[in-house]
Amino acid sequence: MDNISYIGIGSNQGDPLTNCTVAIEHICASGHSRLLDQSSFYHTEPWGYRDQDDFINLVIKIETSLSPLDLLSFLQGVERKLAKKQDIPWGPRTIDLDILFYNNDILESSQLTIPHSFVCQRGFVLHPLEEIAPHLTHPVYNQTISQLLDSLDDDNQVIKLPKERT
Ligand code: AMP
Repeated sequence: MDNISYIGIGSNQGDPLTNCTVAIEHICASGHSRLLDQSSFYHTEPWGYRDQDDFINLVIKIETSLSPLDLLSFLQGVERKLAKKQDIPWGPRTIDLDILFYNNDILESSQLTIPHSFVCQRGFVLHPLEEIAPHLTHPVYNQTISQLLDSLDDDNQVIKLPKERT
């Protein structure tokens, strides 16, 4: 399990806290991936399509033996198991799992962009990332997560939930 990846997790349907927790359990039970760190849960305003419930978001750090594409298809299988509904772009969803970083790799294909294209633009990703990886450097922009957060232009509310509420 030599590869380090950061995964963004989000949910705004059903019981979002439980959905996120169950998704992490699936990842940990897989045998090929191990949880190394986990941010707090964050209560966030929806980005893009606004007429929907607020989200719960967090970021986890994992060690994995999967290649980036195998990791993507594994995560998509977890999304399917948790009955992802995705009728509207950026719309409501039971669970959304995104590969934010995979080692220091830069990948661009029709299926997979790494680092994820929205890492730099969205508070619901940068705030939880900064909690567990402030010094992680974005391989394309060559800036740390803290530096990217300093120059973030995203007014959407991102509220860190106290541990006892989660
Ligand atoms: P979404 O439903 O917003 O998570 O988008 C899923 C689509 O984004 C899938 O078709 C993936 O192939 C594509 N995608 C591209 N880059 C990534 C990434 N880094 N992590 C997850 N999905 C990705």
